[in-house]
Amino acid sequence: MPAGPDAARPDPAEPVCSARGCHAAPSWALKWNNPKLHAPDYRKVWLACDAHVDDLEGFLSWERGFLVEREPFTAPGAADRQTH
Ligand SMILES: [Zn+2]
Repeated sequence: MPAGPDAARPDPAEPVCSARGCHAAPSWALKWNNPKLHAPDYRKVWLACDAHVDDLEGFLSWERGFLVEREPFTAPGAADRQTH
């Protein structure tokens, strides 16, 4: 069995929350840009579950200007997982 740092993650094609250690299905997409690292029109996207969206949003911080947009995210097939 592979034992890389991401071994605990499910199928990498399946979107998960960007919070450290959280593998929950995300329901939010946070689009952000760090002007020191990224071109002005580049958008980095973090996915977040309901439990972590506020933490991640706070980390990116509206005030620092990293966070550009917060929008609902629906993964393909996510309806199956929202029942538990
Ligand atoms: Zn999470």
